[in-house]
Amino acid sequence: MKCSRASRRLRAALYGVVATALLSCSTLSVQDEKQLGEDVVQQTKGQVRMLHDRVVRDYVADIGYEILDATGPQPFDYTFYVVDDDAINAFALPGGHIFVHTGVILKARNVSELAGVIGHEIGHVARRHIARNYNKMRAGSITQQILTTAGGLYAGNAGAAAGSIFGGMAVASVVNTFTREAEREADDFAVASLPRAGYDPNGLPTFFETMMREGGSRPPEFLSSHPSTENRLTDTREAINALDLPSGLRANDGGKFEIIQRRVRLLTGRDSTERGSRP
Ligand SMILES: [Zn+2]
Repeated sequence: MKCSRASRRLRAALYGVVATALLSCSTLSVQDEKQLGEDVVQQTKGQVRMLHDRVVRDYVADIGYEILDATGPQPFDYTFYVVDDDAINAFALPGGHIFVHTGVILKARNVSELAGVIGHEIGHVARRHIARNYNKMRAGSITQQILTTAGGLYAGNAGAAAGSIFGGMAVASVVNTFTREAEREADDFAVASLPRAGYDPNGLPTFFETMMREGGSRPPEFLSSHPSTENRLTDTREAINALDLPSGLRANDGGKFEIIQRRVRLLTGRDSTERGSRP
């Protein structure tokens, strides 16, 4: 398909490989998605506050790799990151880059809830939802989508997103705006893969309960408003009830999760009295 004149003008107005990749008139192959991921990750890391702690990051990554090992061959090598942000959120960037907020680690009640969130994000990548979004972006008005999404979705980082409207966060916002079906697929992926990795899949619906209890504004991706958290809670419970689960699935990991929570609180300066008391 030929690029339109408007598209060529846009390309000229934008900069960098990310923009070129977004506007190139080709399907997003696995290789393209890897390249796009490298670029978007670098920009995103410059725009969010990363938690640079090997222990916490390795802990999150180990859970991710356990789920991946139980899932079978994947098109991407996954990398896991922790963002120092209270919002209960996680997101996946192109090519298998998964970001989990400290808000998820601190609000989760046990390791199976954290595993549920990580499993959901892996599901978006494994099911190629990002490539699907990319194709949708090409079909519609790219600029409009980037402007709207960057302005609205990263509410907590609106300044950062607006400051680099064509940068990593804007692109990340767009590729993370998933359809209702994609959210269901990612939840289904988590429910199916957690038991294979030895985790109790009930961590996902119980984390939805946590999210509903916390209430407040709805940041992007994990708290996406469609389908509603209530529906996701019901749907995942039904899916779990239909499974023939083995015994011995774990919701806890012998206190390791609680140690990581304490470490996060220390590193981020949030003491234990703050937990759960935020309005
Ligand atoms: Zn999602």
